[in-house]
Amino acid sequence: MSQDLTNAAERAAIQKLASALALPAFDKGWVWLAGAGPGDPGLITALGLHAIAAADVIVYDALINDTLLKLARPGAELVFAGKRAGKRSCKQSDISRTLVSLAHKGQRVLRLKGGDPLVFGRGAEEALFLAQAGVPFRIVPGVTAGIGGLAYAGIPVTHRDTNHVVTFLTGHGADGKLPQLDWQSIARGSATLVLYMARKHAGTIAEKLIAAGRSPSEPAAIVSNASCADQTVHITILSELGAAALQNSAPAILVIGENITLHAGMDWLGAIHGKLLEPALREKLSDVS
Ligand code: SAH
Repeated sequence: MSQDLTNAAERAAIQKLASALALPAFDKGWVWLAGAGPGDPGLITALGLHAIAAADVIVYDALINDTLLKLARPGAELVFAGKRAGKRSCKQSDISRTLVSLAHKGQRVLRLKGGDPLVFGRGAEEALFLAQAGVPFRIVPGVTAGIGGLAYAGIPVTHRDTNHVVTFLTGHGADGKLPQLDWQSIARGSATLVLYMARKHAGTIAEKLIAAGRSPSEPAAIVSNASCADQTVHITILSELGAAALQNSAPAILVIGENITLHAGMDWLGAIHGKLLEPALREKLSDVS
């Protein structure tokens, strides 16, 4: 697909920003592996925005906001490399080879991924492939769904009264199955668990955690389409997480832990839409200091 929209004013503004921030030039023959954030286009970094405006070709995943892609320069090539509804995603090895061959042609190649490229996003595999092929690359971090998406849901990933540890895990191993993990250690070691790609196996995960000593009535939450216009936050309990997770198939972060109770006072997005915040729990939990 060719990008032929007239967006000169926007791109000039991005160029000004890049120069004000002294951002590095995007040189020909380079690949930038960048994260676009969880959905809200405002969550991309300045470096990511600069890369979009400067790239000759953008190889992007599903879940990348169209508003961002519209900032590509006229004539830039946009290559979709994600999963379309009902179809399998492109093979990882094909994507990596495409990046190398585009870079060898002297293109400025932007590999744009959802969230952060190195968080459950195969960015490391692509970077290592590029390194092996001798292609120079830069990594541009992004806001990961398990942190920024939770912030949009009004669920703090840490709070000193609820958790000093947070564990991020994926419910989807390379073979599509639940990864083999030490559930006893996970259950005991971390008050807050943040789960990516975990809808399908949420019931099994909950069972394993309960068997390892977590309370069936512990708060759990499903944050779907975080930071997007259709974001939803469903609060439940651990024993019901599995059934709740199967009710929908939108991309979701699952959370387990007491920090979810802080949502009542921190749902700032809900408050914008008229919801009354109930911060009482926060006061009960912590001495103000
Ligand atoms: N690199 C990404 C994660 C890729 S794995 C990051 O750092 O965020 C894809 C999974 O991320 C989805 O299955 C879902 O669990 C989560 N995810 C990505 N975007 C999301 C969003 N907007 N809302 C909820 N979950 C999201």
